[in-house]
Amino acid sequence: MKYLPDGLGLYIHIPFCRKKCKYCDFYSACFCDSVYKEYFAALVREIKSWGGKITRPVDTVYIGGGTPSVTGGDIVPLIRAVRESFLLSPGAEITVECNPTSDPSFFEAAKKAGVNRLSIGVQAGDDGRLKALGRTHTVSDAVFAVNAARKEGFDNISLDIMLALPESTVDTALFDAEFICSLSPEHISAYILKIEPNTAFFAERERLALPDDEQTARQYLAVCGFLRDRGYSHYEISNFARENRESRHNLKYWRCEEYLGLGPSAHSFISGRRFYYPRDIKAFIAGCEPVFDGTGGEKEEQIMLGLRLNSGVPLDSFGADAVKRAREFRKAGLVNISNGRVSLTEEGMLVSNSVITELLL
Ligand code: SF4
Repeated sequence: MKYLPDGLGLYIHIPFCRKKCKYCDFYSACFCDSVYKEYFAALVREIKSWGGKITRPVDTVYIGGGTPSVTGGDIVPLIRAVRESFLLSPGAEITVECNPTSDPSFFEAAKKAGVNRLSIGVQAGDDGRLKALGRTHTVSDAVFAVNAARKEGFDNISLDIMLALPESTVDTALFDAEFICSLSPEHISAYILKIEPNTAFFAERERLALPDDEQTARQYLAVCGFLRDRGYSHYEISNFARENRESRHNLKYWRCEEYLGLGPSAHSFISGRRFYYPRDIKAFIAGCEPVFDGTGGEKEEQIMLGLRLNSGVPLDSFGADAVKRAREFRKAGLVNISNGRVSLTEEGMLVSNSVITELLL
């Protein structure tokens, strides 16, 4: 088992949203001021408690949700608690997710707190598609939010876009990609919509005019090509970045490096053990212990996660039979083999689960 760098990633979950989006299965509850206050106190308590147990430096912090911008000015004491409890590496990447509806004063507070990367959930470049997703923002809110963040001096911004939306086509996906690029983000995450159980979309799934697999593939490949042509490197199945603007925190997940996750539904991987906090705000406030989730970091897992990256994994990670299968996949255009490494092509990324499963047989 091999652990890579010394720096630990720290994930902090803010499980509140103003309104639930129709596709979302992340753990979050409707914002309520009194519960939020209790939660915030419990979160700071956990940050301090874990900080007392971990001595290695933290080189990435990612505050996700939910909608972390509901913290408003509390982002300052939150990050102060992190700094006072953990040894934060100089130049640590500190990301906060926010929605385009966030009050622009949040960006000022985040800047003051030392946040140096924002991830903004833009999702689409058309008000009709945003409404269909149950988003509460408009296209002009997205433009306003990105401009407000730039005005505060944020020079590392990631924007999300969703593909395969109801009634979408290659043209609408490219329209959304063009809109995202017009905002000049340093990083773009492009996710294919998946209808998850326990979402509003799941209940409506029979009525949604969703693209089929072939149409979805065409949208994905068209957007990948479009973003590459605009200078974004396709470094992970759903992620694109300008040079040196990859998400350092998320790279830890795919490189099987270690991270600590705090908050309900947050997962951790430390010293070969995986554990998570249950999806229950009240239990977290009451001080519940994280649940052990087995061991991790074995070779198979490293291959599975490493193949999500365009850098792939070394060919000699595989036995003779798997190498033979990799060569077959290369003939089918699903895998690249070069410089002693195996990686997925964009066509292969579309069927990554089955290709990876076959390679791991
Ligand atoms: S997508 Fe984001 S804003 Fe929408 S419900 Fe999920 S966590 Fe909240």
